[in-house]
Amino acid sequence: MSLVDIAGNLTNKAFREDLPAVLERAAGAGVSLIVVAGVSTTTSHRGWEMASDHRSARNAKLTPLELVATSGIHPHHASQASSQALVEVADLAHKDLVVAIGECGLDYNRDFSPRDAQRRAFEAQLEIASGTSKPVYLHERDAHEDFTKILERWRPKLAGGLVHCFTGDRKTLERYLAMDLHIGFTGWLCDERRGQHLRELVRLVPRGRIMVETDCPYILPRDMSPKPKSGRNEPAFVAHVARAVAEARGESFEDLAAHTTATARSFFGLPLRPGLDGCGRSSA
Ligand SMILES: [Zn+2]
Repeated sequence: MSLVDIAGNLTNKAFREDLPAVLERAAGAGVSLIVVAGVSTTTSHRGWEMASDHRSARNAKLTPLELVATSGIHPHHASQASSQALVEVADLAHKDLVVAIGECGLDYNRDFSPRDAQRRAFEAQLEIASGTSKPVYLHERDAHEDFTKILERWRPKLAGGLVHCFTGDRKTLERYLAMDLHIGFTGWLCDERRGQHLRELVRLVPRGRIMVETDCPYILPRDMSPKPKSGRNEPAFVAHVARAVAEARGESFEDLAAHTTATARSFFGLPLRPGLDGCGRSSA
């Protein structure tokens, strides 16, 4: 049994003290791959370094857990997307352990950056992605109309797109599926107050298009017990999310783990059967 957490914000300060223990627990829970999401030039760079260091250490430790990274600027940080910052995103995008461009997209829920800055940063990253063979890693909250309008224009030029942490409604989901996007589900679905609708919607996503994620350290599943006192989510808990998704879809946990893992590896361009050499030997 093997699981992929497609959203681990491992560069977050919440993991600064005990990352090795966190990774060990993840491996113990059957996690074979974590995608370290980049949300700014600094975290994208740190995520790539983390994945590189981990790969160097991996053969010695004989751990099957792999780390890969993404390069992007989150809509929250869109006002930092200067032309220099975008050049850094593009440079990093060519590294072999960087598997996607993003997180990029629009977040009108919190509006941490002005909306026009968000739209500009989003388009700029779609343009970067269109010049590579790598997919985009997308974030959208309460911005479905603008997000879709922009993405529809770029979609034909993109290798693929993953809407991570989907929390929207049925119409939105159907539109994303019609655009041939992949969909990621977090422990939001385990929240009886605001995630109930996702238990229905998760059935509409065909095999081969669905992935599971923690979005840790955020979104600790509300129905976990016992809950860690810290309130911190971590990659090991993707097993909890996967169980909830499997139950909602009427699939066995093992089946769900197998098909979401295969989907994630193929989406991110990784060999289907991970060997200890991982996804390429050069660290260029
Ligand atoms: Zn996000």
